[in-house]
Amino acid sequence: MTEPDQDFQTYMWVVAHPDDAEFSSAGTIHKLASEGKDVIIIQVTSGDRGASDDSLPPETVGATREAEEQEAARRLGAKHVEFLREGDGHVFPTVELREKIIRMIRMFRPDVIVTHDPFRPYALHPDHRAVGITTHDSVYPLARDPLYFPEHRAQGLEPHKTAEIWYFGPETPDIVVDITDHFDAKVNALLAHKSQVGSGENLAERMRERHEDVAKDHPFELGEAFKTVAMRR
Ligand SMILES: [Zn+2]
Repeated sequence: MTEPDQDFQTYMWVVAHPDDAEFSSAGTIHKLASEGKDVIIIQVTSGDRGASDDSLPPETVGATREAEEQEAARRLGAKHVEFLREGDGHVFPTVELREKIIRMIRMFRPDVIVTHDPFRPYALHPDHRAVGITTHDSVYPLARDPLYFPEHRAQGLEPHKTAEIWYFGPETPDIVVDITDHFDAKVNALLAHKSQVGSGENLAERMRERHEDVAKDHPFELGEAFKTVAMRR
């Protein structure tokens, strides 16, 4: 499989930090948005400790990174960004975080959820692992069944079945999306994360190499890879 199901209309990324969605899958986001699909990005933290020195307080770093994320999402054509504002480096797979993610699922009602692969062994940032596993646990059966977090109903949020979950950064990908025509948009979105990439020296070259490697067994030049899981109905 190299292309997503055309019936899916709404895609929701759930990521740990501003720039995770862009580094992993901005080409796919731009491609989906340019096909008229709705892309929602949920930022679990605002990356408030993502700085190489301690000259600025976390609140300032977080505010800067939220603004950068909004700009990156605008450049990609994403419809909406939501910030859950968990602490950077302090994300745990708790029932409280599940509730927040399930709330997002019931609010935005995605056909596909895209998140960090929490099953990839060894070299995982703890926030990436926590967001991946909590999102995985939220999709099925919790967001689908009304007795989990029944208070959502009183707030107008109905249970929702998500059709598929996709993991980026997977050990064993089963879908490679052709992003050849969306690569420039990806680099442009990454450049919005100025506090992280600076002037972006060598960024395009590095990203091109990575995406050529992902697409090497495919009849196109540049790709982004995912592991997809169809959820039980
Ligand atoms: Zn991250």
